[in-house]
Amino acid sequence: MTAVRTGGAVYPRRVTTDTLPSTDPAAPGSGDGEKPSLALYLHIPFCTSKCGYCDFNSYEGLEHLEPDYTPALVREMALWAPAARRFRVDTIFFGGGTPSLTSIDDMRTLAEALRDQFDIAPDVEWSLEANPTELSREHLEGLRSIGVNRLSMGVQSMHPDELELLERQHSPERVAQAVGDARAAGFENMNLDLIFGLIGQPLERWQETLERVLEFNPEHLSCYALTVEPGTALYYRVSKGILPEPDPDVAADQYEWTRARMAQAGYEQYEISNWAKPGRTCRHNLVYWHAQPYLGMGAGAHSFFVGRRLANVDAPNRYVEAVNESFEERMATGRAELRQVAGGEIPDDATLRADAMILGLRLLEGVSTAEFAARFGMTPEQAFPEAIVRHEGFGLIERAEGRLRLTERGLLLANEIFIDLLPDEPAPPGDFPTPTTPSAEA
Ligand code: SF4
Repeated sequence: MTAVRTGGAVYPRRVTTDTLPSTDPAAPGSGDGEKPSLALYLHIPFCTSKCGYCDFNSYEGLEHLEPDYTPALVREMALWAPAARRFRVDTIFFGGGTPSLTSIDDMRTLAEALRDQFDIAPDVEWSLEANPTELSREHLEGLRSIGVNRLSMGVQSMHPDELELLERQHSPERVAQAVGDARAAGFENMNLDLIFGLIGQPLERWQETLERVLEFNPEHLSCYALTVEPGTALYYRVSKGILPEPDPDVAADQYEWTRARMAQAGYEQYEISNWAKPGRTCRHNLVYWHAQPYLGMGAGAHSFFVGRRLANVDAPNRYVEAVNESFEERMATGRAELRQVAGGEIPDDATLRADAMILGLRLLEGVSTAEFAARFGMTPEQAFPEAIVRHEGFGLIERAEGRLRLTERGLLLANEIFIDLLPDEPAPPGDFPTPTTPSAEA
């Protein structure tokens, strides 16, 4: 998901589920005796090879950790369960890394633990990210049999040379085979991820990729502009002059063409980079964009849970060690500090308002001024008096049906608008988590 800068101090870990509050002000569905809603994210950090553009918390060459990783995830579920059982889980998302590398036996273990530890809604949306390189029909059938009902496949391009530039291991033919196998295995809800704005990619080449992918008739498409992220192999090649930088003007032309073509093909754009057929929006990602609670488990996973932001330690080996220590403490004493949580904060009010505004403006429907006021006790205009006037004046934000939303031009300049909505000064910290001992990275 999109990283949003947050205010408030970052504390060392020292979290126990026993001390967490029993309600979550950001959770929908809290009324009428109904359990509040929660989204679960599970991170699988393993990949067969590291793609050149990728800055996710993913690793090649760590296969030896896999036998310990699944038990650690099961244990982390048990550690969170006392706090999370008060919620109903409406969406589950296995992201990575490459979750499709996890064996079906391990996936079955994880599915059983999820059902044991959490209250899973009968109509749960259960997504899994998959890499076409290794996907087999047998594996896909196994995923369906344990309850995964939405597949998100990293396609990125339908041109071999572009896939090579990105250091992806699959071919366009492999994509077609994997999509066909997924359909045959019973996946009726599929997302395909694409990247446009590639280095040296003219509009026509992107058009060819999108046209070929539309032939697969996916329910959902995510189209992201290439960003050259520091620390990646691609960044090194660009910074050394081995490759030129991507051309933002070409990417803007590609984006505008994509919006028109997707509408013509019957897809609704509901977020800056996401399109869906009617009724096929990604319910899990909407939780993020509506700034509602989610609990992330696994190496480097982030959470926004009972008003806290929490982040697990990134390194998979340290994550496994930390979870195991916490779990053993729980077994011995009935109570445990969650050592896998490497940092946490209680976002201050200004940060929560900025998050709700920035994430909400990513959605084409925008932000309801009435809902914002009900949640924060002030209207967006009161919260961001200068920025909203300024960007309305520039023609980047508009009002319609009681909502504030980005204009067509605003969609192209969204990041500039979002920077303007961030709080100026980090506010004083909240009172959680209280450090009880010196920080020691798990
Ligand atoms: S498969 Fe995905 S997570 Fe893994 S390295 Fe490539 S882009 Fe990153």
